[in-house]
Amino acid sequence: MDDTFELYDLKVEVTATDRPFVCSHREGDFFYVQGENLVFPEGSSFSMYSLSAILPLLPAKQRMTDPHDWMSTDAYIACPDPNCGARFRITRVGKRTFSHSETTVVPLEGEDGTEEQV
Ligand SMILES: [Zn+2]
Repeated sequence: MDDTFELYDLKVEVTATDRPFVCSHREGDFFYVQGENLVFPEGSSFSMYSLSAILPLLPAKQRMTDPHDWMSTDAYIACPDPNCGARFRITRVGKRTFSHSETTVVPLEGEDGTEEQV
């Protein structure tokens, strides 16, 4: 039985605006999201305060969304420091295939016995 599903790989990149940065961001700094993993280029760093603003959106951005959903079209997150001009662009850069059975111990029927609607 095919139990595969797809998620988008994401790239999160620091972009500039017309206002200066307050935090330690550098334009062009980035990391990737691959499945459950955040993948940083070797030797890079990323503000934990900024990361806290970005993290809640990543699982939704990884998933297929309706073309009319704002999650499909909106790509920029503001730095949580209101005086900082940095923005973070989330780009879908590809799709990756996963197996349900390799990502959870919960059966496809779900924990409440409800069958998955395919
Ligand atoms: Zn900032």
